[in-house]
Amino acid sequence: MSFLQKLFSGATSSSPKRNYYVFTVKCKRCGETIEGRIDLNNDLSVEYEGDTEVYYSRKTLMGGGKCFQRIEAEFKFSANRSLVEQQARGGDFILP
Ligand SMILES: [Zn+2]
Repeated sequence: MSFLQKLFSGATSSSPKRNYYVFTVKCKRCGETIEGRIDLNNDLSVEYEGDTEVYYSRKTLMGGGKCFQRIEAEFKFSANRSLVEQQARGGDFILP
């Protein structure tokens, strides 16, 4: 009686591997730490500096509701998706 089980046992779902850049910022007003992440496949916009490709991404983060400070984080990546620059307004980057 295992023939139906055999029919359906091959259905394994595999999702494509995602490439994220994860960062943590600390709110300048209340000190809360907030984690954000950038999808390196979808969240980057390309610009050209001369003949060099660079990638930009911007994220706006808000904390858990105790304060209304918005933290705007900006990132710059090189063509091979390694971080070149980052800056945040309203918060500070902290190392994981
Ligand atoms: Zn805050």
